[in-house]
Amino acid sequence: MPMETCKRKDDRGRIATMATIRASCETCGDVELTTVDVRVRVCINDNRGEYSFRCPLCEMTVVKAAEPRTIDLLVASGVSMDTWSLPAELNETKIGRPISHDDLLEFHDKLHDTTSWNEALSHLLDG
Ligand SMILES: [Zn+2]
Repeated sequence: MPMETCKRKDDRGRIATMATIRASCETCGDVELTTVDVRVRVCINDNRGEYSFRCPLCEMTVVKAAEPRTIDLLVASGVSMDTWSLPAELNETKIGRPISHDDLLEFHDKLHDTTSWNEALSHLLDG
């Protein structure tokens, strides 16, 4: 992802220094973006980083994994960064057997039968 700085006039005609970011879209190839076109997301649990942008040609959103060095470079040039964390459910202790296809079918049937659905819910509340 090569970056360079260029001077452009902003909305009010002032000269603004803006980093030009060259990234590639799988459909359109290399495209030129500015720092406001790109977003960075970093997972705070494992430090995995990715950047995303909407391709100016095909308008599809492109998401790519990035090394910490690239993330640092993007953020330093003014790209805004969001952080996210893995769902807390990943740390829960799992008990019981995994859900099977039959369990899903049974659940589906219960959802369409109000009486048995209410019974199943009251069992959960009692137990
Ligand atoms: Zn594209």
